[in-house]
Amino acid sequence: MLRSIRDALKSHPTIYNRYKQSYQEQAAKVKADPEVIKLVGQYGLSEEDVTHQLANFREWLTERHNCEQCTGIATCHNMYKGHASTPIYVDGELRFEYAPCNLYRNQQRVERQKRLLKSHFIPKETLNVGFDDLVKDKGNIDAIKAASLFCLQFTEVQGKGLFFYGEFGVGKTYLMGAIANKLSEQGHSVYFVHVPTFCREIKASISDQSYIEKIAELENVDCLILDDIGAESFSPWIRDEVLGPIIQYRTQNERPILYTSNLDYDNLRTHLAESSHSQIDDLKAYRIAERIRSFTVPYKMYGENRRRN
Ligand code: ADP
Ligand code: MG
Repeated sequence: MLRSIRDALKSHPTIYNRYKQSYQEQAAKVKADPEVIKLVGQYGLSEEDVTHQLANFREWLTERHNCEQCTGIATCHNMYKGHASTPIYVDGELRFEYAPCNLYRNQQRVERQKRLLKSHFIPKETLNVGFDDLVKDKGNIDAIKAASLFCLQFTEVQGKGLFFYGEFGVGKTYLMGAIANKLSEQGHSVYFVHVPTFCREIKASISDQSYIEKIAELENVDCLILDDIGAESFSPWIRDEVLGPIIQYRTQNERPILYTSNLDYDNLRTHLAESSHSQIDDLKAYRIAERIRSFTVPYKMYGENRRRN
């Protein structure tokens, strides 16, 4: 039969006495620790309660000390990186559990947000902007208010999106960045796509069919942002086989799309019809333009060009 370490040590009195003395010293040190005294007082623990869980109390104190000296998750010395032993009092019993620290929680949140917010050729600066960073003026305040309300009331199936239009540099894309950030922070998936570049890339990948997967992604994300629609030169194929179906699928399923454009609804419609070769083509362009109009609320943005170059 296996003997306990204590029993084994008992047959070696000198070693056993040294072990006992060191154990008693440690126990006394733990019990005299102000944090332990506080916990004992808080939950009315007996001395025996502490003795029973001496190892757990010691680990808790060590990890508390590690956390006080924290220099980041990468250098965390605790048993589980980014976690700390934490006392929990349940059903009249004190237990210790490993709870994630604030740094770890924050890291998880940022990683989750990164996974939720996908983008295609959107400047990094725009992907990091928050509503509080925006300078407000009379040319953008209505759009900012609408954007903020949109985030506040967001549900994946709510039909109407937003249409921000206006001159180059007035902050249409930047404001969409604030929306994209807010929504992904709230746990929604967002795809923020620069339409002209996206169309160019889709054209280049026709032969390998990988665009089919991309289209499905754009169709199914919680919120789709189509940036700079109207700045590309559409081929009928892109319009009728790529953008048209994405817009149709999402509007039929009441999934919101947000747009930015240099063009207003009427000019966008004309632009969509530019590559038409027949009346049927014209009709297709008209249908897409009408879907965009019916499923968005327009906000004209104006003011100075905020671009630095
Ligand atoms: P648009 O899409 O209308 O052409 P952008 O959104 O790209 O313009 O804005 C150009 C730049 O101007 C942004 O990258 C940003 O640096 C700055 N900017 C735009 N709107 C704001 C704002 N509300 N507050 C502060 N800076 C802004
Ligand atoms: Mg833009």
